[in-house]
Amino acid sequence: MTSSVEQNAPLPSTIPDPHVIKQMRILIVDDARDNRVLLRAILRKEGYQHVAVAGSATEAYRLLGLEDGAEHAQEFDLILLDIMMPGENGIDACRKIKSFPHTRDIPIVMVSAQTDVMWLSIAFESGAIDYITKPVNRIEMLARVGAALRLKYEMDMRKAREAELLKLKSELEAANLELARLSIIDGLTGIPNRRRFDEFLELECKRARRNKLPLSLILIDVDHFKLYNDFYGHLKGDECLQAIARVLSDVVHRPGDLVARYGGEEFAAILSETDAEGAMIIARKFQERVEDQGIPHEKSPIASVVTISQGIATCTFQKPVEPPTLIEYADRALYQAKANGRNQFQFVSCP
Ligand code: GH3
Ligand code: MG
Ligand code: MG
Repeated sequence: MTSSVEQNAPLPSTIPDPHVIKQMRILIVDDARDNRVLLRAILRKEGYQHVAVAGSATEAYRLLGLEDGAEHAQEFDLILLDIMMPGENGIDACRKIKSFPHTRDIPIVMVSAQTDVMWLSIAFESGAIDYITKPVNRIEMLARVGAALRLKYEMDMRKAREAELLKLKSELEAANLELARLSIIDGLTGIPNRRRFDEFLELECKRARRNKLPLSLILIDVDHFKLYNDFYGHLKGDECLQAIARVLSDVVHRPGDLVARYGGEEFAAILSETDAEGAMIIARKFQERVEDQGIPHEKSPIASVVTISQGIATCTFQKPVEPPTLIEYADRALYQAKANGRNQFQFVSCP
């Protein structure tokens, strides 16, 4: 059995603060001055702070900013609209107000003399939510106005919550995108990381097999980088890797190509639809562009600037291979390039 404390615990209130309701803005539209004065007096006396009046539909449009060239559109939370007015009547006015996005959600309560009650069904069809009959009964009118305003308040709150949720949703989406991006980008160099490399190579090997296309892989290793680090320091070493990542990425542009940081001071280039000849052209460019950077490497036994060694492996459509095989052969080629004196590329054909 639940305790009396729990039973008596108040439910979270959904009823808006009366003070807030009294701050909401009301527009009275009536061609008869006496009616306008009376309605306004009742509302004011009840504590409503913002009550505006209009003597015709046209004047109401001006206040609501529905007229061409209307500059100072006021915002309203409720419109009390007389049905019978000379010029445009309340039904047409209601339709027009409901047809504009910024006034569509303002509740409209029709004010009608007993004689035009027959118009009410048309008024509801045109978008009115309630009606008050003339002569106006004070109690009834205040009850209907209060109800309409509370409804509007709830609607506004719900819209605000929806907007907030939408905002949160788009922030979440952006954060997820950023997370997805970060998970495939190397933090130091800003180019794709090993994970992305593995994924991409897997896909491209499958694509090459399916479409009977060649595929090349270049493994790139900085020459005597340990000596560079030891002499210039780790920070300079990092900068050097960043520069090399930039240079390599600048060389390849095709959608099927990917330059990634393979690990440490090693990079890799996947070249889709590229045969051995094409891969060697790219490798030559890598070689030259890195050397052209002229990054001093005082301790290098082979050059005065930073250089790279590269191993190329290509598979042709007659002999498609799996990613590990392609990597293994590129690695063998790289080993040969190192053994041959570095600052060069070697090619090994897949079995
Ligand atoms: P080789 O010409 O045979 O490739 O000689 P090497 O000195 O480049 O090869 P080794 O594998 O002996 O050394 C690689 C060096 O790369 C050692 C390591 O400190 C450095 N290194 C790896 N990753 C980073 C990094 O993120 N930043 C910096 N600054 N240095 C790195
Ligand atoms: Mg290495
Ligand atoms: Mg190295």
